[in-house]
Amino acid sequence: MGRKAKKLADKLPGVSRNLVEQAIDFTSPRGRLEMGGLLIGHLDSDGAIQVVTGFFPKQLEATAGYCEFSGSWVAMAAAACLYANQACSDPIIPELRIVGWIHTHPNLGLFLSSIDVATYKSLKLMTPDSKFIAVVIDPLRDEQGIFLDENSPNEYFSTSAVPEMSQQLRQKYHCFLDRMQEIKISKGSDELCAILPGDLRIERLLMGDTDDSRTASRAAIQKMKGAIWTLEEEIKTLKQKIKPLEGLNREIISMKKDSMIIQQHLLDLKSKTSQRNSLLQKLFS
Ligand SMILES: [Zn+2]
Repeated sequence: MGRKAKKLADKLPGVSRNLVEQAIDFTSPRGRLEMGGLLIGHLDSDGAIQVVTGFFPKQLEATAGYCEFSGSWVAMAAAACLYANQACSDPIIPELRIVGWIHTHPNLGLFLSSIDVATYKSLKLMTPDSKFIAVVIDPLRDEQGIFLDENSPNEYFSTSAVPEMSQQLRQKYHCFLDRMQEIKISKGSDELCAILPGDLRIERLLMGDTDDSRTASRAAIQKMKGAIWTLEEEIKTLKQKIKPLEGLNREIISMKKDSMIIQQHLLDLKSKTSQRNSLLQKLFS
């Protein structure tokens, strides 16, 4: 559960749970390597952010405590939003825009580091109205938090569902996702690693999109199965090596027993000899 935030009067943003789950599925096979991406959404009639979709581009740097992607992805995402907005220019339908930044904290928990605060601040400056959230996910602990303010790096909320969208709004998101798919095809999946369709997943799969999150987690399971098989083979080999040693061990134990019996005999003999010696001494004294 999220912690209490400052601006309780403001309506909290909606973040698609499916989107967050897809992000967790995609990033958990990376282990301790962090990963960052962008979140796309709109403002609802109350001015609250609704996060619907997102993507993870290639990381310029990814370590256990830091990740960075090219700033050109901000421009590309903004252009794809513009494309969707122009394709459906009905003023009643909200405009799509970049509304957030998502990044992972594998096994680190939920907070904003000093570098995160600086990144959040610089991304927020690119928005016209400072409406921008940060989402941190810990794919190894299966935790997620929404941060509303870079000045409160330890205050976060848990995700809440995005309200049902109108057909026209869904269509606008499809336009955006179409454009992102085109970018993925032209640049390759090394550059645009994953598109997270959120609640539009089933529709996108029916349209022929690849399921990036499911593919990544399936590949990780296969890899794990391979590792288990190798481990089982290694255990078998070790057991075979141990077998003759077990026989040797039994021999050592039996030799130890024999040695103890011999030692006992020697002690008896010693005591008998000393008794005889003292008897002889008495006889000849
Ligand atoms: Zn961070």
